[in-house]
Amino acid sequence: MFILTPKPDYKKIETEVLTFWKNKKIFARSISERPESKKFVFYEGPPTANGHPGIHHIIARAYKDIIPRYKTMRGFRVPRQAGWDTHGLPVELEVEKMLGISGKDKIESLTPTKRESIIKFNQLCKENVFKYQKEWERVTERIGYWIDMDNPYITFKNEYIEKLWGIIKIIWSKGFLYQDYKVLPYCFRCGTGLSSHEVAQEFKDKTDTSIFVKFKSASEENTFFLAWTTTPWTLPGNVALAVGKEIKYGKYQLETGKKIILAENLALKILGEKATKIDLFIGADLVGQKYEPIFNIEKTHKDQFTILPGDFVSTSEGSGIVHTAVMYGEDDFALSKKFNLPTIHTVDPKGNFTDQVKKLAGKNIFIANQIIIDDLKQRDLLFKELKITHSYPFCWRCHNPLIYYAKESWFIAMKKLRSQLVSNNEKINWIPAHLKHGRFGNWLDETKDWALSR
Ligand SMILES: [Zn+2]
Repeated sequence: MFILTPKPDYKKIETEVLTFWKNKKIFARSISERPESKKFVFYEGPPTANGHPGIHHIIARAYKDIIPRYKTMRGFRVPRQAGWDTHGLPVELEVEKMLGISGKDKIESLTPTKRESIIKFNQLCKENVFKYQKEWERVTERIGYWIDMDNPYITFKNEYIEKLWGIIKIIWSKGFLYQDYKVLPYCFRCGTGLSSHEVAQEFKDKTDTSIFVKFKSASEENTFFLAWTTTPWTLPGNVALAVGKEIKYGKYQLETGKKIILAENLALKILGEKATKIDLFIGADLVGQKYEPIFNIEKTHKDQFTILPGDFVSTSEGSGIVHTAVMYGEDDFALSKKFNLPTIHTVDPKGNFTDQVKKLAGKNIFIANQIIIDDLKQRDLLFKELKITHSYPFCWRCHNPLIYYAKESWFIAMKKLRSQLVSNNEKINWIPAHLKHGRFGNWLDETKDWALSR
């Protein structure tokens, strides 16, 4: 029996309630005394126990407590199983730090054999992952969150992992699993793709040579499309040029007699005052025109080396014509999907040119930058070069500049499920209601295929 006072001692009251719950096993009884036939099952969205619980966890746990309690009061039997998320980079990084090592190679040579090294590293990760388990349990109990922490599911347990493989098999047998490329920030020195969280770790100013390159029109004598790039090494991988359909482009005659096509509003800045405008059109008029490849790369598709429409093209910088190397840029890759362009690497995972690029085969891309620029100059395909200093992502592990690189990845075809997801959302009673067609609804409308391996 509690007596209400004008100045209640909450801490004391709460402790008394908690003790009462504990002694009388109220949580366990709130489950066992409800009928087996009327179940409402809750699995905790598992936190990682290698970090301290924070205030945001308390809010989330309070919400997670409300629904099961409500269901219990409605007469349901509500088993609630806690879980621990033990996978992922945070744990691995913590252990690497502890061992004073960094990267895959170092992990694999912890002991004389690779296999033993991986076993040892995994074991250390498994130990490290429960570093703050006691704190988590204490906080959970203290805030009165009812969850079965004595029998948690743990994501590193084989039975859990096997379950996931079982789910992937179901997805596969339904035809929803496929392999494709995903363009991601990549460090060729470490040989690994980086998450956006990792990329954000290290941005530095980097000075590069940006170049304006002349792509010779295949149909019109002495006429060139001008494209701009800060990554000359992607030029051998060029498969298309992109223009904005609505953007205005001009054809300009230079003093040399050569004709250059580029966005009208950038012409003065790039070509100077002596160029004469001889024609004006919009991007849509250019779409479908062909140009000559600047490197002797095999042509495997009819739309290769063609002007294509891209809604990512802007005239805020460059020339308004975007050089498209589908394996080395996100927008570029999306364009390849739309027009079925060939997806062939000209750079290997170690950052060297493949045999496909004859003159540069085996050369590192950053070393090749200058060779490419000199070569273009010699062939009179370089219009202009400019030094630019921009904020550029570096690998936080080895401090090598990152590149965007298409890596093979497994995908779940979520887009096929979009209409089903959208119609199921209609059945959900959202609180607050605006989330239904707002944040969540918008997210469903934009459903993308899910790249689940990196
Ligand atoms: Zn690296």
